[in-house]
Amino acid sequence: MIAVRDTRGRLVRAQSAAAQRGLDAVLISPGSDLRWLTGHHPPPLERLTCLVVPSSGRASLVVPALEGPAAQACDAVREGGVHLATWRETDDPFQLVGALLEGALGRQPAQVAVSDRMWAAHIEGLRAALGGADWLTAGALLADLRVVKDAAEVQALREAAAAIDRVHAGMGEWLRPGRTEREVGADVGRAITDEGHERVNFVIVGSGPNGASPHASVTDRVLRPGDPVVVDIGGTMPSGYCSDCTRTYVVPAYADAPQQAEVDEAFCRMYEVLRRAQQAGLDAVRPGVRAESVDHAARSVIDAAGYGSYFIHRTGHGIGLDEHEEPWIVAGDETLLAPGMAFSVEPGIYLPGRFGARIEDIVVVTDSGVEVLDTADRSLLVP
Ligand code: ZN
Ligand code: ZN
Ligand code: ZN
Repeated sequence: MIAVRDTRGRLVRAQSAAAQRGLDAVLISPGSDLRWLTGHHPPPLERLTCLVVPSSGRASLVVPALEGPAAQACDAVREGGVHLATWRETDDPFQLVGALLEGALGRQPAQVAVSDRMWAAHIEGLRAALGGADWLTAGALLADLRVVKDAAEVQALREAAAAIDRVHAGMGEWLRPGRTEREVGADVGRAITDEGHERVNFVIVGSGPNGASPHASVTDRVLRPGDPVVVDIGGTMPSGYCSDCTRTYVVPAYADAPQQAEVDEAFCRMYEVLRRAQQAGLDAVRPGVRAESVDHAARSVIDAAGYGSYFIHRTGHGIGLDEHEEPWIVAGDETLLAPGMAFSVEPGIYLPGRFGARIEDIVVVTDSGVEVLDTADRSLLVP
């Protein structure tokens, strides 16, 4: 189980980061930043929920009265680090935010940062209430804090990876000739929750030419023996942390029992290149190197084999409470990898109209190198 979140420490760090950047306040709406800071994770709705973090003084969690009991139960409110401020249906929640900030700062705020994903309608209401403040986005400030995971977060990611690996281990049961991608996808989706996830985030079953579309989902295409199939799946655990793992399989032939089907030789050659590229990416992960160097390591193997123009996405993305977060494993991301950073290593090669392949594992940077969290078999045979 995940240990208690250190919400008090996280709030203090957010406040000092805000002060360092010359901000008077950070306003956080429902989403992973709010969950990380307080443990509270309501759905984003039209009624304003907003964590008001002044650069000094106590933070307040503004919630509609009907969500008061749920907010009362979150870590940050229970531990007393955050004051709960509820509003009723006929109150103006934007004025309430303004009053709380003026109370904490002793004046109107001049510089305010808001969640990257705050609804525009809420920003409009806040702007009207807070007068002439400058408005910025808070995403980078919070990403800097969240990018290094603590021990409990790494453990939560390990549990998420183990759960999605168990789903891949059942693929032999579902990936059979004569079935459609959609039928396979439905089975896989059920297995994702059966194995301990709270929510299915995505199910990609890209067979044959559909595998050449990196973000395919499922179609009614019928699987045939020998078809390569890209299966990229992920979900969110009750802890809030995400899984994300891709394997590429070949649909077996069946008489009475599974048999290896004939596979396109060009595909096999391509897949061997991809395996080497993904391994080169994993091998490049260690503290002190830049995020972009992991991309370079994987990409140069693919480039050297002549498939460079068919690798059309970054090598990976950070993962945590969000499926996709910082750091970005791509040329130009100069983030120096540090112990506790977690991200995917997922090169792919996609030949339009023919087939595609991708291999994806989640890794965590350790003191001396890398811990690969996903251990599902990387061979083309269905397990
Ligand atoms: Zn993706
Ligand atoms: Zn994925
Ligand atoms: Zn991914």
